[in-house]
Amino acid sequence: MKYFDITPLISEKLAVYPGDIAYSRNVALAFEKGDHLLLSSITATLHLGAHADAANHYHAEGAGIEQRPLSPYLGTCQVIRVDIGPGKRIEPRHLGTTEITAQRVLFYTGSFPDPQTWNADFCSLSPELIELLAKKGVKLVGIDTPSIDPEDSKKLESHQAVYRHDICVLEGLVLEAVPSGIYTLIALPLPLQGADASPVRAILLEGQVLADELFP
Ligand SMILES: [Zn+2]
Repeated sequence: MKYFDITPLISEKLAVYPGDIAYSRNVALAFEKGDHLLLSSITATLHLGAHADAANHYHAEGAGIEQRPLSPYLGTCQVIRVDIGPGKRIEPRHLGTTEITAQRVLFYTGSFPDPQTWNADFCSLSPELIELLAKKGVKLVGIDTPSIDPEDSKKLESHQAVYRHDICVLEGLVLEAVPSGIYTLIALPLPLQGADASPVRAILLEGQVLADELFP
């Protein structure tokens, strides 16, 4: 079965938000040091590459990532490619004639092209678009940039909109190679207790291959 891996490689070079903690792997035991196995630990922001935000990341009363149901992260998914220029929010009018036909929608903007090189002028979502998606019954939205709000946003209008509608968020996806269309998303967050996010291994299978409500 053909699938797209939409997860960037996790390495020391992976770009993280300015001021956030980049990935590092600390080797405790190693064969070349004469140890009997390789054993390591990691230090990193949880907003690392492809990741799911938890509601407590953007709202004081939001739940941690372990309390998210799994169903939004697994099932039929629509990929929409837009071309709106750097630093813009995707608005409803940018959808053009595209109809929302799935409960999960991922947006390719091409505005954060290299996961290893931070650029501040990436595209994001507008709260108006979130409102429209909520009306269509969407329960997960994703984007190929580090945030669904602009880099310097303090009000986080789109994060507040997804909180109001209890819509799940995926950020940091790699969608360059993925044409617009219908896929099956698999991108499960880890149940990290109380955590504000979790990295995910996100893939898109071609077409609709799962019953839409595996986990009601
Ligand atoms: Zn995040």
